[in-house]
Amino acid sequence: MEDIDGVAVQVLDIPFDAWLPRQRWYAGRGRTLSAARPVLTVPLTSACARNRLALRDDLFLVLLDASYVDGTVERYQVVMAIGRDQPGHAGAAISSHDGRTAYDALFDADAARYLLKLIDDAATVGPVEFAKEPGARLPLDAAPRVSTAEQSNTSVVFGRDAMLKVFRRVTAGVHPDIELNRALARAGNEHVARLLGSIETRWDGEPCALGVVSEFAADSVEGWHMATTGDTDFADESRLLGAAVASVHTCLADVLGTDSVPFPVDVMVDRLATATQAVPELYDYAPRIKQRYRDLSGRQITVQRVHGDLHLGQVLRTPQRWLLIDFEGEPGKPLQQRRRPDSAVRDVAGMLRSFAYAAYQRPGVAAQAWADRNATAFCDGYAAESGVDPRDSADLLAAYELDKAVYEAAYEARHRPDWLSIPMGSINRLLA
Ligand code: ATP
Ligand code: MG
Repeated sequence: MEDIDGVAVQVLDIPFDAWLPRQRWYAGRGRTLSAARPVLTVPLTSACARNRLALRDDLFLVLLDASYVDGTVERYQVVMAIGRDQPGHAGAAISSHDGRTAYDALFDADAARYLLKLIDDAATVGPVEFAKEPGARLPLDAAPRVSTAEQSNTSVVFGRDAMLKVFRRVTAGVHPDIELNRALARAGNEHVARLLGSIETRWDGEPCALGVVSEFAADSVEGWHMATTGDTDFADESRLLGAAVASVHTCLADVLGTDSVPFPVDVMVDRLATATQAVPELYDYAPRIKQRYRDLSGRQITVQRVHGDLHLGQVLRTPQRWLLIDFEGEPGKPLQQRRRPDSAVRDVAGMLRSFAYAAYQRPGVAAQAWADRNATAFCDGYAAESGVDPRDSADLLAAYELDKAVYEAAYEARHRPDWLSIPMGSINRLLA
């Protein structure tokens, strides 16, 4: 670790373990934290000379290992400033000592702009690589603000043009959000927020993603909000959304290829067994669900890179078109699994399940009819764009919907028992 006026040494003494559990993005709730210690502290100052940036002697990129009493360890990222002023945002202060305060620098407009400048300069700072996509223009003079969206990372929006998402929990391995957005942006696909740059380091010889900057869709509405609150019938939007998802799938297949593999019966059966242990309500349905999976045993299916966690909260409607965002896959799964090619039907099923949920948020609407109408419109749009109608493989689509509904049942039983009836009702209907 470099030592700048003794500041880097001080980083070791900062009581991150008191601050970390208070952060919205902290994933350790329900476990007992035993320590949170920096394992990497990169003074971002060292970029200055080489990259001719205005000097900042107070900014550090810190990776912390949070260790829990149960033996688990998570790695978190904090971009931290140490200064004499108090940060503008109350929750940003990490600790104060000797008249200096360490704070979360993403809430400091100058620091956020500085990070964007490092990306613009494609700077290398110690083990951290800031990269800019070819031809990207970054809004270096725009006013930054931290997004208030409910999220597990922290995003800083620059004016109306760009959004820097700083990953909070970091893991070793190629990050699908960067990988897939890069592939789609370079192929010119218009249904994603165009990737502008990234921040990465290495961990145990593997890449490790720290941040991603993409175009900000300033006048956009989240799909979930639009589907659950709009007065108008959503079916026209669902059709366009189906076409957007098909366009992304076709592009990913063209650029990153496809393969043919046996339908993953065992994976689905295992998931079902785990969920059934936790949700007694699944017990009576389990044999019939398992049979549906077994009926597909030996069937070769086409797989490709997909979104992996597609639902109405992962799509934005701009005045022009639908965008798919957040290609990081299902956050609970290890990175390697999330990058594994899967059937495009996985994403289609994810969206159909989301319609089932949205239908129950619309007062005065016949829920099932609404969900069915939007599922039909979505599949129509998908088929028209790609030439492949997911309904032609009805048994495969139903299997992926069941897999998702089983996952939801386990989630709802644990976190929102009042909602358990939504996936259970769908399971009943899918088996009918
Ligand atoms: P999660 O914890 O849900 O996985 P995350 O930290 O990965 O969230 P995102 O899902 O990428 O973050 O973004 C959070 C929210 O920010 C989105 O729901 C959306 O409202 C908004 N958002 C994301 N990307 C953009 C964009 N390019 N333009 C406009 N808004 C965006
Ligand atoms: Mg995410």
